[in-house]
Amino acid sequence: MTLSGVARVAFVGSRRIFASHLPSMQSYTPAFSRQGLIGGKWIDAYDGKTLEVHNPATGEVIANVSCMGGKETKDAISSAFDAFNSWSKLTAAERSKGLRKWYDLLMAHKEELGQLITLEQGKPLKEAVGEVDYGAKFIEFYAEEAKRVYGEIIPATLPDRRLFVLKQPVGVAGAITPWNFPLAMITRKVGPALACGCTVVVKPSEFTPLTALAAAELALQAGIPPGVVNVVMGNAPDIGDALLTSPQVRKITFTGSTAVGKKLMAGAAGTVKKVSLELGGNAPCIVFDDADLNVAVNGA
Ligand code: ADP
Repeated sequence: MTLSGVARVAFVGSRRIFASHLPSMQSYTPAFSRQGLIGGKWIDAYDGKTLEVHNPATGEVIANVSCMGGKETKDAISSAFDAFNSWSKLTAAERSKGLRKWYDLLMAHKEELGQLITLEQGKPLKEAVGEVDYGAKFIEFYAEEAKRVYGEIIPATLPDRRLFVLKQPVGVAGAITPWNFPLAMITRKVGPALACGCTVVVKPSEFTPLTALAAAELALQAGIPPGVVNVVMGNAPDIGDALLTSPQVRKITFTGSTAVGKKLMAGAAGTVKKVSLELGGNAPCIVFDDADLNVAVNGA
């Protein structure tokens, strides 16, 4: 695939996602800025700093994105906290509609998102397009599950009592994701959070922020209200600390290394947040002497 081929496809599509959130592969210039999303607005880092995003296949700089830190994260948390008031009060069916529309838009931009994943993450295009399919399906699944967050009636131990479990959204969730699945790790966290009424501050990997920004733009286009999905990227420890110390953040969801997961778990204890951690995950592939090589290659 030629670069101009990629660019041609990348710029047909709906509205802003391709005009302003995909790198111009034709110009391919380092003087390229991409902003974070706070309260529905695209925002530069407050000190103007940017972070280079590279194409791992060539080492070239494909974009400069806002390099944010604690201050921007605090504002993103405030936006998410404000948005929680109204988002959590919608009916599950109303939230479901927004998620379904987001799924439709992700699928409508499958090829372009796949190209973006390949560009910043380096996986083959077929796998990248496959990731869009896989990642979008989390949004579809939770759009459906949004309507089925059932509670429970528990037999009471006393005759004059009635015990029941009512499931409620915890509040603002901080979602920290790795570089290996730039879309799917986000949708897998944001889908269930939004479905049950939470709002989110997403921190994608500094290696792969562009897919996150494109997905967030599509969430806005889907009519998911400003502040429900926020994206900050840049200085990971500063962003992490702001998420951990904020009493408004009630949940941390993380996929990444065990070392960082331990830090997050310890940091979350200060404000007694819920945590969901998916850590480690080395997957060696050992091919033995007597293996059928064709099968092994396909499997790998
Ligand atoms: P991996 O080895 O999969 O890249 P990491 O744990 O290094 O795993 O990174 C996963 C995510 O965690 C990335 O988004 C990274 O920026 C973020 N991260 C790294 N250090 C911290 C930290 N101290 N606080 C919050 N997030 C962090």
